[in-house]
Amino acid sequence: MSSENTADATATTHSFQAEVRQVLDIVIHSLYKDRDIFIRELVSNASDALEKLRHIQLTEKDVHQADAPREITLTTDDTAGTLTIRDTGVGMTREELVENIGTIAHSGTKAFLQAIKEKGGGNENLIGQFGVGFFSVFMVAGHVTLHTRSWRPGGESLCWESDGSGTYTLRAAHAPEDRGTRITIRLKPEHKEYATADRVKNVLVRYSKYVPAPLSLNGEKLNTQQALWLKGKADISVDEYKEFYKFQCHAWDEPLDWLHFNADAPLLINALLYIPGSNVEKNGFSRQEPAVALHCRKVLIEEAPKGLFPEWLRFLKGVVDSADIPLNISRETMQDSALVQKLNQVLAKRFIKHLEELARRDSAKYESFWREYSRNLKEGIVTDAVHRDALAPLLRYESSATDAGKLTTLSEYVDRMKPGQKEIYYLAGPGRDSIESGPYLEAFKARSIEVLYLTDATDDFVMSHLGSYKEKPLTAADQADLDLGEADGTTGGGALSEKRLKGLCEWIKSELGPKNLDAVEAGKRLVNSPAVALNADKFMTATMRRMMQAMGGNGGADATPRIKLEINPRHGLIHKLDALRDGDPAFAKLIAAQILDNALLSAGLLDNPRGMTARIYEILEGAAGRAAANGKREEG
Ligand code: ADP
Ligand code: MG
Repeated sequence: MSSENTADATATTHSFQAEVRQVLDIVIHSLYKDRDIFIRELVSNASDALEKLRHIQLTEKDVHQADAPREITLTTDDTAGTLTIRDTGVGMTREELVENIGTIAHSGTKAFLQAIKEKGGGNENLIGQFGVGFFSVFMVAGHVTLHTRSWRPGGESLCWESDGSGTYTLRAAHAPEDRGTRITIRLKPEHKEYATADRVKNVLVRYSKYVPAPLSLNGEKLNTQQALWLKGKADISVDEYKEFYKFQCHAWDEPLDWLHFNADAPLLINALLYIPGSNVEKNGFSRQEPAVALHCRKVLIEEAPKGLFPEWLRFLKGVVDSADIPLNISRETMQDSALVQKLNQVLAKRFIKHLEELARRDSAKYESFWREYSRNLKEGIVTDAVHRDALAPLLRYESSATDAGKLTTLSEYVDRMKPGQKEIYYLAGPGRDSIESGPYLEAFKARSIEVLYLTDATDDFVMSHLGSYKEKPLTAADQADLDLGEADGTTGGGALSEKRLKGLCEWIKSELGPKNLDAVEAGKRLVNSPAVALNADKFMTATMRRMMQAMGGNGGADATPRIKLEINPRHGLIHKLDALRDGDPAFAKLIAAQILDNALLSAGLLDNPRGMTARIYEILEGAAGRAAANGKREEG
């Protein structure tokens, strides 16, 4: 079926420009992976033409058929094997037609050819990236007839035809055309599927559900969805936001919160991002895949592109629309694209700002966000150097200054720091109770120094990656070498003399001398306990060690802790031990060994408690013997 009589007197035959011929050759012979995209390209051209017209109508009074509605209509004819797409947009003049579709004035053509040469066939996504999207029609078309009539008054009705093989013909149309462009695609026999309504509808629903102009297929209206992200915030109700979340994100739950924002610089962005009500990863399900769709002026580029957000923001759902991203940016190179990387950074930064605002505006809601997604933010601190410092103010912890279950921020901690306090202290442990009953807190309590409670297995990594906050080093409170100064209200009385202490420390070290005991020293930090085991290894904290053990190997690191035993020179037991080492060295050694094991046990560092019970019985027996002897003496 020949669409028009080409033996027309006005018809002229033209050769495509050499570059266009090469593009066509590639389209016809090498692109085959995702032929559906030709529909998206043509619909987006139609949509652009309608947008252009809308702008023109704002200023020009004299527009051909000014009252005709702006719309896009598609019609399939499966007996004829054709698909027709018609728009009532700007249309084209003869010069525009030759320029836009005959010669490719676009500078991108060469770049496209180069890219195809490098990447080889099968990269249909490259085609739109270089402004040659129209030609994708030849992936499926045996013949294309394009009728067009410009919006300009007195314009010509034109007919352009080609089979994509090197030439096209151009002539006046036989009958006057309505304003706009009508493209009839005669499909190759092997691609007749695109002449059936269901097939075309499927593609339209996927790619073009938000196209701004009314879009219909065989008379059925298709795009009833509004691109909510482009509307003004003031015009959208809370219910509409929630409704859109369910529709766009295929969600069943309520969103926890959302961010709707527009930016003009450094990129044009309209985004509507949702935080789902619950974090599926937290509930033990598999890792989230990206779920924010990327659009370019309402036309879908990709449903769930990788690289649009940093990894740790993978829980987000919704839509990002950027007119600056080429419609058909290649999926393969998306993550490497400088534009997408820029977009990624702008989006992440803006979302972090949103979380800060949320925390300020509605701290209860922020805390419910924190309870769901704290792991993601911590992952960000550990893995994303770009946003690490910006994420620190979003951290929340319990501390020795909060009630159980109440959270505080690093900033609040800094505000509460004592005069002269230079560091931010933290203790890691499985829970508030275990940290508070452990051996390390008392030294800080006695000096009214606040300690953050880190109860998540990843917190140690977070602190070591962060290093400091507002130039205050983040320091583990179980670390050796802390100089905390005198405890509040200590008199300094009751301590062993320097000389006796030195002797006692040397004696303990030489008597016990397990290979991991680095040092025995007298310290000021203790108040109620006779001794504490301190981690002498800055790089292997107690939590890390527990994790290594849980992973069932030493992970290349030595799992034996380096320990410093700090003894309390004021404690009664230490006084007695010192006296005992002169009188009964064997019994003193038993007690010293038990003091070390107790310290290791409270620190969670005792790997092998066997042997301890036997020793305790021995000590008890000794103690009972002495008590009995004393009793006899008193009786007698
Ligand atoms: P791009 O859309 O990236 O410019 P295309 O190859 O898709 O590249 O289209 C080339 C040009 O042809 C467009 O820029 C536009 O000027 C013109 N064009 C294509 N389709 C239409 C249409 N339906 N109405 C008016 N002009 C069109
Ligand atoms: Mg286009």
